[in-house]
Amino acid sequence: GEPEEEKDQAVKLFEHFIQASTCKGTLNSFNILCRHLDLDPVDHGTFYSSLKAKLTSWKAKALWSKLDKRTCHKEYRKGQACVGTKCLIIGGGPCGLRTAIELALLGAKVVVIEKRDTFSRNNVLHLWPYTIHDLKGLGAKKFYGKFCAGAIDHISIRQLQLMLLKMALLVAVEFHVNVEFVKLLEPSGHQEHDGPGWRADIRPADHPVADFDFDVVVGADGRRNTLEGFKRKEFRGKLAIAITANFVNRNTTAEAKVEEISGVAFIFNQKFFLDLREQTGVDLENIVYYKDNTHYFVMTAKKQSLLDKGVIIHDYTDTEMLLSSENVNQDALLDYAREAADFGTNYQLPILEFAMNACGQPDVAMFDFTSMYASENAGLVRERFGRQLLVALVGDSLLEPFWPMGTGCARGFLAAFDTAWMVKRWAEGRTPLEVLAERESLYRILPQTTPENIGKNFEQYTIDPGTRYPNLNSTCVRQNQVRNLYINGELPVTSTSLERNGTIRRPVNLARRDLTTSWKNGLAFCALIHRFRAHLIDYDSLNEEQSASNIQLAFDLAEQEFGIRPFTTGEGMAAGQDPDKSSMVIYLSKFYELFCGTPM
Ligand code: FAD
Repeated sequence: GEPEEEKDQAVKLFEHFIQASTCKGTLNSFNILCRHLDLDPVDHGTFYSSLKAKLTSWKAKALWSKLDKRTCHKEYRKGQACVGTKCLIIGGGPCGLRTAIELALLGAKVVVIEKRDTFSRNNVLHLWPYTIHDLKGLGAKKFYGKFCAGAIDHISIRQLQLMLLKMALLVAVEFHVNVEFVKLLEPSGHQEHDGPGWRADIRPADHPVADFDFDVVVGADGRRNTLEGFKRKEFRGKLAIAITANFVNRNTTAEAKVEEISGVAFIFNQKFFLDLREQTGVDLENIVYYKDNTHYFVMTAKKQSLLDKGVIIHDYTDTEMLLSSENVNQDALLDYAREAADFGTNYQLPILEFAMNACGQPDVAMFDFTSMYASENAGLVRERFGRQLLVALVGDSLLEPFWPMGTGCARGFLAAFDTAWMVKRWAEGRTPLEVLAERESLYRILPQTTPENIGKNFEQYTIDPGTRYPNLNSTCVRQNQVRNLYINGELPVTSTSLERNGTIRRPVNLARRDLTTSWKNGLAFCALIHRFRAHLIDYDSLNEEQSASNIQLAFDLAEQEFGIRPFTTGEGMAAGQDPDKSSMVIYLSKFYELFCGTPM
């Protein structure tokens, strides 16, 4: 009869939604499904349960049972924790979407604006074990059956965005494409006067989101964060030019046999890089290869070889000029990337045909990682006419990752959870200084996180930081240290988000006396890493007495970030005799090789 047909139709429409392979296709199929079921996601408090009641096919139920396991985390208080809180999220990248899902599960009204209308990045993100677990818990495999099958620990950015968008829509996140955030608009008066509260100046200006009043705004718009009020720290390393390249994957048996090159292997296999240089003139510091929807390569190339091979035309000292499109020979760049990929896979990939990017061009690009940016702070509170706004940054806007090491998504999601936790605290009615001090305490941990030093029990992970960070000290930043982040009145003119030369570089004393005893409390190792990648270590927070954990932190970071393998453990070194001099020389010389020429 008719109800059966209705049901079949609903199952079909749900399937369309699950299978949609583009951003627009997902949004369209979702709208059609909602219309068919006579549901409106604007009723965000009841949407998910209504949808669940109406979609009862086995496939839908399998997804609900996954999601139900998540929604019952006690932190969400059955979706009541943030009822009445209104959040605007700028940017629909992986981190904006991941934040949106958490805020929706807390019961907040969540609106995401995304300036583009396609998900087109083929590039592949490395996933830490916890992120794989996290995404599977949100039903990743229901949306994308191949998700992290077997030992696979990566996903293309577009696939990740696609599945996160679907998850977000199911929990009633409002998602608007082709809407660009321009700036925050302050309230024009006190609440009693009934005027608008905090709003966003957006393009197009007549879009309905322009009338959305919010209490929380999250900047998730990537490395060029547009939210005002955050100072940015710049970390200058030695010149680092990364090249990404994507080749078509036809999924043939021959292709399936080719081995991946994972990120941590680099600089050990000196012979590989010497042979590569000898045979092709391509000179690399590292290379990563993942077999995903495309054959994806990311490598750091030495400038001289790019000049020698005609990829870069003139040798400018200014990196922006050096890598400007006029100074790059695109064809030579393609050849360079192809040669590296071919050699790196031992000439086993049968046809190296470039995949296309969003502009219909071969998907090869060159990026400058000489300067990396991180925000000095993760959050602030603004108040005008008694109306408060909680402002937060997540993802690349907060802390820029070095792609060949693939920390973007992993640290990005941790920050998304920490931000959701902050919003929950805010909704509980805690004071701005309390909320900010806790948030900044957590942010101190973020750059130091590695797959080894975060909580091992992923099953227990929630937005509560205590479930994720062992030995957490969530009060290490005091309220009096965050007073400047509570901005009552107009924004001071000096704190623009693009303050690019506000480089903070604390002098660090490197112990030079000997190679053994003075390294034993771990501070010298940490200082060494801090010297070259200051954002990785909060040097001032280290305790001289915790030798083992200092050494282990340095060892873990050196391995994770630079691929330098430790020669012992922190415990081993702290407890034992003085370290063996030759192991120390070998270990330290790896840093030297990596960083020689880095401006002091
Ligand atoms: P993003 O993924 O950058 O998302 C930001 C989103 O905000 C984008 O969708 C953007 O369109 C939108 N946006 C920007 N400004 C506005 C605005 N004013 N209003 C509305 N929306 C806005 N990482 C790797 O590990 N390996 C790689 O090979 C790699 N390649 C990359 C290639 C490119 C071109 C880019 C931009 C990033 C790449 N990354 C790579 C970084 C990686 O994508 C991020 O670390 C990861 O996606 C998490 O970032 P995010 O969500 O914070 O920001």
